[in-house]
Amino acid sequence: MVLARDNSAEMMMTLRTNYTGRFPGWFASTDITKPEAEKLLTSAVKQGAIGFGEIKFHVEAAGPELRRMYALAADLDVPILIHFQEVPHTPTEGVFSTGFKNFEAMLKAYPKTRFIGHADAFWANISADYANESAYPSGKIKPGGVTDKLLSDYPNLFGDLAANSGNNALSRDPEFTPGFLKRHMAKLIFGSDCSCTDGKGGGISQQGNPGASRLAGKCVARETLAVLKKTVSAEDFRRLTWENAHRVYRLKA
Ligand SMILES: [Zn+2]
Repeated sequence: MVLARDNSAEMMMTLRTNYTGRFPGWFASTDITKPEAEKLLTSAVKQGAIGFGEIKFHVEAAGPELRRMYALAADLDVPILIHFQEVPHTPTEGVFSTGFKNFEAMLKAYPKTRFIGHADAFWANISADYANESAYPSGKIKPGGVTDKLLSDYPNLFGDLAANSGNNALSRDPEFTPGFLKRHMAKLIFGSDCSCTDGKGGGISQQGNPGASRLAGKCVARETLAVLKKTVSAEDFRRLTWENAHRVYRLKA
């Protein structure tokens, strides 16, 4: 699944032709603060995009820019993948889709929207004691976190296991992980979000993000697959890495 831009239809067509079977679909993103955002994303979906994402902008999660995207995603019947981040990785980076702790109001207000939670704040809030103190908190998870609760209570919320954030959440407290995966077995979707060039951590993987240095020199996808493999049964591994995505993204097998 490629997280691309609104004007990526042609490039995706080329990729899919050149690498048959490797790219079952793509998501489109565009600057949602611009007035033409709805038009561009609608057009991308008409040209084959099957979702919105990744949606990563300096706005509030309950603000008007994102609200109109939630509504549009429901209208077009496509999922929307949102990057939630409350702590900047670098002095100039800023924060994205802020206010995840109050996201329940959005899940209530847009029941027909398929939300896919992704990134730092989504995964840090797996622990009830997260106070936006760091991008990737470590150590024991305090049960009852916002993310755990929302995944349990709202059928329209799913979780993207991608990136250092997803890997960190699954690795920081090995006693917590099996129960969490079990509870949300139908709602979690494997993703890589890894920029290494060789599947072994080569290239610039993780270098733009000092907080993610625990995975420097490693392939994020490979690491997360290894965590899943050692934690769940082969049947559940298939659900997390294949079946859930097919169902939520409405892909044919
Ligand atoms: Zn992201």
